[in-house]
Amino acid sequence: MNLVVMKFGGTSVEDPAAIGRTAAIVAGRVAMGKSPVVVVSAMAKVTDQLLCAAAAASQGDRTGALAISSRLRSRHRDTAACLVKSADGGPTLMQIIDDKFAGLDEILRGLAAIRELTPRISDLIVSHGERISSHIVAAAFRECGLDAAHLDAREVIITDSEFQKAAPLDDLIEKKAQENVLPLLRAGKVPVMGGFIGSNAAGLTTTLGRGGSDYTGALVGGALNAETIEIWTDVDGIMTADPRVCPDALRVKVISFEEAAELAYFGAKVLHPATILPAVRKSVPVMVLNSRNAANEGTRIMSTAPHCRSPFKSIAVKKKLTIIDIVASRMLMTHGYMSKMFAIFDKHKCPVDMVSTSEVSVSLTVDSNASLPELSADLSSLADVTYEGKKALVCMVGEDIRGQNGIAAQVFAAIRHINVRMISQGASEINMSFMIDEDDADEAVRSLHAAFFRDPDPAVFDVEARKQLSVISGQ
Ligand code: ADP
Ligand code: ASP
Ligand code: MG
Repeated sequence: MNLVVMKFGGTSVEDPAAIGRTAAIVAGRVAMGKSPVVVVSAMAKVTDQLLCAAAAASQGDRTGALAISSRLRSRHRDTAACLVKSADGGPTLMQIIDDKFAGLDEILRGLAAIRELTPRISDLIVSHGERISSHIVAAAFRECGLDAAHLDAREVIITDSEFQKAAPLDDLIEKKAQENVLPLLRAGKVPVMGGFIGSNAAGLTTTLGRGGSDYTGALVGGALNAETIEIWTDVDGIMTADPRVCPDALRVKVISFEEAAELAYFGAKVLHPATILPAVRKSVPVMVLNSRNAANEGTRIMSTAPHCRSPFKSIAVKKKLTIIDIVASRMLMTHGYMSKMFAIFDKHKCPVDMVSTSEVSVSLTVDSNASLPELSADLSSLADVTYEGKKALVCMVGEDIRGQNGIAAQVFAAIRHINVRMISQGASEINMSFMIDEDDADEAVRSLHAAFFRDPDPAVFDVEARKQLSVISGQ
C-alpha cells in the first residue's frame, strides 16, 4: 500500500474554493495509485474565534459568546451548502453541523454561568473547529467522487491528560491507527480526520497545542509507516524567511530533519515544532507543499540534506519572549545553584529558550505568557530578579555553518544598527541565535536575508522563482 498522509492547514480548507482545491489534490494522489489518509485543520481563524467565544463566556458574556458561535455556525453551514448538494446517506451534513453547534452552545452557556475556564473545557470548546471541518471536508470529497470516510481523530490520537498541550502516547496511537485507519484504507476508502485533537485514557478531549494539526499528520504517518507525510499550506514550502516579513524569501528545496526541527522550534510557523519527531523515528520523508500552487515541488525534509555553499538555510523569529535577569550579590556559580534555579522553572513547567551566564548573573529567555509573576516570586528566594518583555529571538539555521570561520562577524555586521541583548550558538552547531527587541525583529530579518541570500546555491534554493519575479517586475 503506497500510504501517504496529507495534512491540510486552515487556509487549505478556509472556504468552498479552498476545499475544492484540496479535493482535487487528493484525487490526484489517488489517481497516482496512492492511498491517502487526510488530516485537516479547522477552517482558517476558527480556532482563534472559538477561543474568543470561550473567553467571553468565562467572563459572563453569554450573549457575546453565543454570537461568535452563531457566526461560526453560519460560516460552516454556508460552506457546506456550497459544496454538498446531494443527500449523503445517514444524517445529513447540515444536521451534523447543527448538532455540533448545539453542543457547543450548551457548553458556552454553562461556562457563562460558572465563569471558570479550565484547560479541559477550553480543549473541549476549541476541538469543535476540527471536529466540524473534518465532516465538511469528508462530505465534500464524496461529492467530488472520492470514497471518503470520516474518522473521529479522538479514536486514534491517544494522549496524556495535559490539556492544551497533551503529549501523544505513541504505542496506543500505533495500535489505534492500525485498528481504525488501516481497515478503511484496505476497503479502498480515503479516511478524513481532524488534526490537533485527541483524547486521554478516560476519553476526554485533549489538544496537542496551537498549530498541532501538523503533529497529528506526523503521528499518523509515523504510526502507519507512511511512504511520505505531506504538509499542505499556503506557501511554496519552507522559505529562507517568513515571506510575510521578507517578500523576496526563496523556497528551500531540500532541508534536513535537524534543520527543519530547529527552525520550527525557533518560530518558523510553517511547521509545528514537534512535527518532525515521529517522522524522524521512522525515517518517513516530510514534504511541505502549497495547496494554492500544487504544481510547485515544495520542500523535501530528509534525514540528510546535500551540502550547501550558503551557510544558512533559513531565518526564524520567535516573538513574545521575555528576558529574565537573575542577579546574586554573592557568587552565583556555587555548586547546586543552577539546579535549584532550574527546579523552579521546572515547577512552573516553563521551558527556557536561551541562557547566558556571568560570574554574578544569569539571563534566561522564556515565553511571555508563562506565569511570570509567580515564577519570579519563586526565583526571588535565590537572588534579585527582573524581567523585560517584548523581546524576539532571531535564529539562523544551517548545517553548513559547522566549521566555517567568520560567520558570526558577518551576522553581526549585517545587523550592526540593531541592539543585541543575548547571543548563543546552539550546542547543535547548526543554529546561531540572538535576542533583540521585538520591534527590531522584522528589520533584522530583512537585513540578514539581504546579506546571506544574495547569491544562493541553486542546488538548494529555488533561484529560478526569484529570476522570474524580477523579469515580471522589470528589475
Ligand atoms: P497552516 O494553517 O497551513 O498550518 P500556518 O499559518 O500554520 O499554516 O503556517 C504557514 C505560514 O507560516 C506561512 O503563511 C508563513 O507566513 C509562515 N512562515 C513563517 N516562517 C516561514 C518559513 N520559514 N517558511 C515558510 N513559511 C513561514
Ligand atoms: N486549528 C489549530 C490551530 O489553529 C491547529 C492547527 O491548525 O494546526 O492552532
Ligand atoms: Mg500550522
